[in-house]
Amino acid sequence: MLENSDSPALFGAIEAGGTKFNLALGTGPRDIRANFRIPTTTPQETLAAAIDWFQQAQAEHGPIRAIGVGTFGPAGVHPSAPDYGYITTTPKAGWAQTDLLGALRAAFDVPMGFDTDVTAAALGEWKWGAGQGCDSLVYITVGTGIGGGAIVNGRPLHGLLHPEMGHLRLPLPADGFAGICPWHGGCLEGLASGPALAARWGTPAETLPVGHPAWEAEAGHLAAACLNILLTLSPEKIILGGGVLQNDHLLPLVRQHLAALLNGYLVHPSLTDGLARFLVEPGLGTQSGIAGALALASAAHGS
Ligand code: ADP
Ligand code: ZN
Repeated sequence: MLENSDSPALFGAIEAGGTKFNLALGTGPRDIRANFRIPTTTPQETLAAAIDWFQQAQAEHGPIRAIGVGTFGPAGVHPSAPDYGYITTTPKAGWAQTDLLGALRAAFDVPMGFDTDVTAAALGEWKWGAGQGCDSLVYITVGTGIGGGAIVNGRPLHGLLHPEMGHLRLPLPADGFAGICPWHGGCLEGLASGPALAARWGTPAETLPVGHPAWEAEAGHLAAACLNILLTLSPEKIILGGGVLQNDHLLPLVRQHLAALLNGYLVHPSLTDGLARFLVEPGLGTQSGIAGALALASAAHGS
C-alpha cells in the first residue's frame, strides 16, 4: 500500500519482555495496523525475527518513520552513554550487555526512542491513558517482577541510571516471610510480586480467593511502596498495573491501606475521595507498554 502524504506517521513499537516481545505497527494505541508476538529466546534469534516482521509490516502498510523500544532491564537509557540502547546487567541468560538498539539501527535508518518497559508504560499512560493532563505521574507494574517508571514535567525521569522502584526496601511482615528477591530478600518485588505471593501462600496468585489474608498483606506492601513514592516524588497520580492487579479487589484495598498510612498528613483535593483519583488503574488496560513504545517512537520522530 502506498503512503498517503496526509496520513499520520507510522511507527514501529517493541515491548521487549523476558518471556515475549510484543511488536506493533501503528500511529497510536487506538490505531494499531498490525501486531505480532515473538517468544524471547536468544538475542540473535529474537531480534532477527523482530526485524523481519517490521520489514514485512512496512512492505504491507507503508514506511516506518520511527521506532520506540520499551525493554526489560536494567537498560542503558542515557543517549550520551556508551551503553545507550543496551540491556545491561540482566540476570536473564544470554541477554546481559545486549545492544538491542544497535541491532535495530543496523536494519532501519529512522529515529529511535529507547527506555525501560515501565518508563515507556508511564509515558503511554501520560500521553493516551489515565495520566492525560498530568505533569507528573508514576506507573508501577506488579507482575512476575515489579517495576516503576516516572514522568516528571512531561518527561521520563532518569538519573544516575533509571528508577528501580521495584526494589524499594519495605518493612518485613510479622509472619517471618523474608521475601524472594535474589538481591534483597524482602524488597517490594521480593514481597509483593506474583511469584512472591505464590511462594508465601503456597498457591499461584490468581488462585488466592477474595478475602484471603494474602490480599490484606499484599495491599499493605503496595501501599507502603506508594507512600514512599508519593512522599519522595509527589506525583499527581500513581497508576498500578500488571497481572496481580487483575484481581479487581486489590486496588481498593491498596487505597485503604495508603490512606491509613498517610493518616491525613498530606492535604490536596486529589487525595480526597478515598484516593480514587490519585491511585488508579491503567487507562490503557494491558496496552500501556506497547502504547508507551509508540509514544517513544513519536517523541523520537518529533511528533
Ligand atoms: P509479566 O510481569 O510477566 O509481564 P503479568 O503482568 O501478566 O506478566 O504478571 C504475571 C503475574 O501476575 C503472575 O505471577 C501471575 O500469578 C499474576 N496474576 C495474573 N493474573 C492474576 C490475577 N487475576 N490475580 C492475581 N495475580 C494474577
Ligand atoms: Zn530486590
